[in-house]
Amino acid sequence: MTDKTQTLGFQAEVKQLLHLMIHSLYSNKEIFLRELISNASDALDKLRFESIEEPSLLGQQTNLDIKVEYDAEAGTLTVRDSGIGMTRDEAIANLGTIAKSGTSEFLQGLTGDGKKDAQLIGQFGVGFYSAFIVADRVQVNTRSVHAGVDEGVSWVSDGEGEFSIAPLQREQRGTEVILHLKADEKEFANGFRLRSLVRKYSDHIAFPVLMIKESVEQTEGEIQYESVNSATALWTRSRSDIKDEEYTEFYKHISHDVEAPLTWSHHRVEGKREYTSLLYVPSHAPFDLWNRESPRGLKLYVQRVFIMDNAEQFLPLYLRFIRGVLDSSDLPLNVSRELLQGNPAVEAMRGAVTKRALDMLAKLARDDQEGYQKFWNQFGQVLKEGTVEDAANSEAIAGLLRFATTHGTDDVQDQSLADYVSRMKEGQEHIYYVVADSHHVARNSPQLEGLIKRGVEVLLLSDRIDDWLVTHLGEFEGKKFKDVTRGDLGLEAMEEDTEKDAREKSAQEHRGVLDGLAKSLEGKVQSVRASSRLTESPACLVVDEDDMGAQMRRLMQMAGQEAPEALPILEVNLEHPLVQRLESESEPTRFDDLAGVLLDQANLAEGGRLEDPAGFVKRLNRLLLELSS
Ligand code: ADP
Repeated sequence: MTDKTQTLGFQAEVKQLLHLMIHSLYSNKEIFLRELISNASDALDKLRFESIEEPSLLGQQTNLDIKVEYDAEAGTLTVRDSGIGMTRDEAIANLGTIAKSGTSEFLQGLTGDGKKDAQLIGQFGVGFYSAFIVADRVQVNTRSVHAGVDEGVSWVSDGEGEFSIAPLQREQRGTEVILHLKADEKEFANGFRLRSLVRKYSDHIAFPVLMIKESVEQTEGEIQYESVNSATALWTRSRSDIKDEEYTEFYKHISHDVEAPLTWSHHRVEGKREYTSLLYVPSHAPFDLWNRESPRGLKLYVQRVFIMDNAEQFLPLYLRFIRGVLDSSDLPLNVSRELLQGNPAVEAMRGAVTKRALDMLAKLARDDQEGYQKFWNQFGQVLKEGTVEDAANSEAIAGLLRFATTHGTDDVQDQSLADYVSRMKEGQEHIYYVVADSHHVARNSPQLEGLIKRGVEVLLLSDRIDDWLVTHLGEFEGKKFKDVTRGDLGLEAMEEDTEKDAREKSAQEHRGVLDGLAKSLEGKVQSVRASSRLTESPACLVVDEDDMGAQMRRLMQMAGQEAPEALPILEVNLEHPLVQRLESESEPTRFDDLAGVLLDQANLAEGGRLEDPAGFVKRLNRLLLELSS
């Protein structure tokens, strides 16, 4: 240590993450090597990119490679790159803090249960800090390509909460990470083990990963290295030559995900535009999926030269969970984010890549139902945004949607619209749906009773976006969506003529009670009519064909907006004892009490809020007391 050594504390989040990572990833500890090589490769990518504009940056040191060395006696392992390096400030920021927004919320969400947390840590993306799984001291010697020989930096930490940083004289640009292996992790200081790990995890790295040749006698000053990996960018190879494991490892490299992807799609496009896309569907959502500001998009390469991470211009927002690489031959090497915006070549690629992504999902749905269900549970809500965001592809998106319906029994969204249509009853013209604040409320909506009795399936919608979704889709395979709480159900074609006659006749006979109710509830309902929707409940609320639905009204009110005034229609079940009881009620106050309770419970049953809950309680109590007297 020199006088200029400074000791600094890790950001609180880093401390927490380190602690958790060391414990929860222990069973998977060898991944630290992949992470360090991955960082080295990124550093080389960045340097190569900057040297396009400024070729002199490379100077005498034209080699772009990664060296993995070890010293079995000392128990050390070194990963060294000739990449972009770090300045003092960069080292402090990059290796002492976590810049990702939402990190502390994420960490608060951890459970303390090692197994679950391991998965969550995987979501977060491990990285440099994984070195502390196997090392009790890590030293990083680095010099930025923009800094002079005496402006190198040495960063040292035992991963306990502090790190020290000191100036360093360093001839070479780039970074070396030296791990002082824990006493029981010395097995990693072994050539055979390291070679096999590099091949297993880092074969696809596009730069050579070099190790000292062990078969020859090494002479001082002239060390001979050999390349351990194949050092070609994976996506440039032909699909038939790439093993599944290689695709998987490459995914882990670009995503820092611990888990394997669900599926991928790799295409080379030739002709007027030339580009290669390699897209992946992760098997779990990242912790910041709902943060619209968080980085998303593909890794962009131009003719195999890395240009930028998170190029979001190639995929729409509703496909923000897709990871992957796009390598274009048409874009200029000096392309910037600004240039990507509105560039016609980019627009064309975006259209094609979007289709590829949707095709990939359709294929997953076709070939691997279980995998698709996993996907849907993680990302379905995001994909739904596409029906609103991307009208041009709404048909393809509609085919990918999954819903909970009355056909199933649980709160699982696993039925496609095509499944629904194939089960439609003879004479059924619509795809029926009900929207509520929760699955439970949707499933128990009184409005479903008549449909269920007729064996007609109903989509049970309870996600926030669902109301928009069905409105935007409008129809599927020519079948219009129909809200079961709205207007006429349109079941006539399915009804026997006798059924209809009987209903009309019965409405005629019971005119008295319908009129009585309408009068008693004046100002609260638009009208009162006999229902074909109900079998068990006494009453339900229905909105007029063109009025705003109850769910939408509640959403608007929650958002502090005024919803247009429109009274509901009360539909009553003339067969229900309560309605029959009303019919024989001659005492006007009691009739009004019963009528009021009937309306309020119809409102409650669909998850609505009563305007006058105290009044409801009073009326109900009056009736209850009469019961007991
Ligand atoms: P991530 O790679 O996901 O950003 P890491 O914790 O692995 O997270 O690394 C944090 C940052 O430290 C990197 O983004 C990079 O800026 C810097 N870094 C890590 N390793 C190197 C390296 N070998 N050369 C240059 N910079 C590095």
